[in-house]
Amino acid sequence: MSSVWTKARKNTPEIDCGLCGFTTCGAFARAIVVGSAEIPTCPILSLDQYASEREELESLSREVRNKERPAPERPEGGVLLSKPCMDSPDLLMAEMRIFNGVIPGKPMKYGVLDPGILCWFLDCVSSRYQEMRCSKELAYAWGDMEEIKVHILRDGRVRMRRARGADHALDSFRIIERTVMGAIICNCCGRDLLTVLTGLVDSIEEHHTVLRAGSTVPLNEKMVDWTPRKKTYDLKQVSQMIDLVDELYSELMSRLDFLISGRYETDHVSDVRSKICQIISFLNDPEMQGNETIFLRGLSIAFFIDNAMLGLDSLYRLLQDGLVDETIITRLLETCKNLPLQKIDWKSLSASEMLSLAHAARVERAVKLYSLWRK
Ligand code: SF4
Repeated sequence: MSSVWTKARKNTPEIDCGLCGFTTCGAFARAIVVGSAEIPTCPILSLDQYASEREELESLSREVRNKERPAPERPEGGVLLSKPCMDSPDLLMAEMRIFNGVIPGKPMKYGVLDPGILCWFLDCVSSRYQEMRCSKELAYAWGDMEEIKVHILRDGRVRMRRARGADHALDSFRIIERTVMGAIICNCCGRDLLTVLTGLVDSIEEHHTVLRAGSTVPLNEKMVDWTPRKKTYDLKQVSQMIDLVDELYSELMSRLDFLISGRYETDHVSDVRSKICQIISFLNDPEMQGNETIFLRGLSIAFFIDNAMLGLDSLYRLLQDGLVDETIITRLLETCKNLPLQKIDWKSLSASEMLSLAHAARVERAVKLYSLWRK
């Protein structure tokens, strides 16, 4: 099953512009596969150059549509299995499951973890875990976490070897779960938790199963629409997180102005990733237990600001390759700041203009999210 989701995502443009209404290409691919979205909803896939991808998506959808799988049981504390390691009986082997909030026995429409977002999180903590690798293609992560060998599967299972005991395995699982929770997929809409937390999807009062996710780290539903209206939160890490999101946004705006003024550089040293990693480290901190939802909320904004910066890089490349006119890019970016990009009639655009619009839409979305976050 996992290969179907991976193949479907690989047959999308992988721009994550959100013009289809699904926020990321992964969520759109999942909706196509289960039949809750139509291919023409993605304007980029309508371009001639994506003819084979459209065919492949249609065939994947025929393969999977109407196949139902019941959700697995929610294991107590996430533990599925715990037994002595074969190579060293003093050590433990354990398997845990990250719960995605689906009621056991009800149909489970999608996988549990979004590979793209899983890797986005794990890339940030790889140095901390000596070695942590994540493959979007294999939808799988593996590595060493202190002395424990860890494997994270897209169905939410976390396998560990060489834990010093049950408590050690459970503590390590809690850290992993906290780290990757934003990648959990909602069984209701196929979007990831980060997207649901942005407030861009239907109201959170709707039944997004992902808001009940977490085996050992439950979300605090009261905090899901939390915004830092005033910097009065008494935890210094929360204030630092707010500052980091502000700095990321300022960086995005500076880059946008550089692109408009012709002074853009893709190779300038940027500490964007280190700021994001810092927020993830707050989320990871056991002392921040109970505040995970707040940090995930901040990370949801950071994720889309990061995505918008990639959009600016892509616009710059289109410009450098002479595929699109400078005046069009400038017009799109000026429009982004004032938010009515959706009003542009994309059906009249050429392929490269359409791509430019998609990349500009990434920026526009970040502007919108940040204004909601700071409302
Ligand atoms: S509209 Fe954008 S986010 Fe949606 S599938 Fe197409 S490229 Fe991906």
